[in-house]
Amino acid sequence: MFKRLYNEAVISFEMKTVSPLFINSGDSDQLDPAAADNTFLVMYRNGELVPVIPGSSLKGVFRSSIEQLLPGSCDIFENPCARRIRQKEREQGRKQQEEGFELGKERYRESCPACKMFGSTMIKSRISFMDAYPEGDYRIGHRASAAIDRITGATRRNALFEFEYVEDALFKCEIRFRNFFRWHIKAVLEVFNRINQGFVTFGGLTSKGFGQMKIQNVSLKVKYYDRNKKTQDYTDQSLFIEREIDGLENILSLFEDVVITDNAVLQGCDLENDKAV
Ligand SMILES: [Zn+2]
Repeated sequence: MFKRLYNEAVISFEMKTVSPLFINSGDSDQLDPAAADNTFLVMYRNGELVPVIPGSSLKGVFRSSIEQLLPGSCDIFENPCARRIRQKEREQGRKQQEEGFELGKERYRESCPACKMFGSTMIKSRISFMDAYPEGDYRIGHRASAAIDRITGATRRNALFEFEYVEDALFKCEIRFRNFFRWHIKAVLEVFNRINQGFVTFGGLTSKGFGQMKIQNVSLKVKYYDRNKKTQDYTDQSLFIEREIDGLENILSLFEDVVITDNAVLQGCDLENDKAV
């Protein structure tokens, strides 16, 4: 856990399918070309089969998109910055006993922008994604497609794989932040834009046009536990102050001054001094 809670934020939004969304293959065939990025679960809710986008899958999509957007981000699978930090700490063992040294803060400072937000083996994540459930009606479809050999990339003759997809669905999503910097939220809003532009897609078979989504009905709620941050836009709840903003455009306008490609912005480590949203 964090030593101290400075702030929290929740972004609630809906994701509407623009193109069919791959759910899963009907069989567990090894040749299933989409198995590697099969990010959807189908589960029962109230006795009915329901497609669910797991929070961990949403987190994966947002993280890899943000790794591309933020300069200096590590590739968590290739060369995670956690390894570099551990090495450095081993070398500087004595520094940690100095007075006023804060290990958590130092690790945050040393981490790449993506790890600062999403965490690593060395620091806690500041962002979490809830499972997304569909709201209202949706259509589940079945299709057969030629199976691709995952090793050779060639189409296997006579090999078909069956898969399921969901269409005309609306997923209710929620992203939560704890001890966030304003640029964390700005980076997520930037991914929203990229989803709406079709650059960021979900599930399997995206090369065939599957998995395009549209973000809508966005709302942002922020809380600060330091009441000195109070401005006229906040309501005082005695323990914290809070504010809610609706609509992606309105929310974006509050972050206009935050440049997520500016290294100086990404390096900031003092939450006490981060301006209130
Ligand atoms: Zn990193």
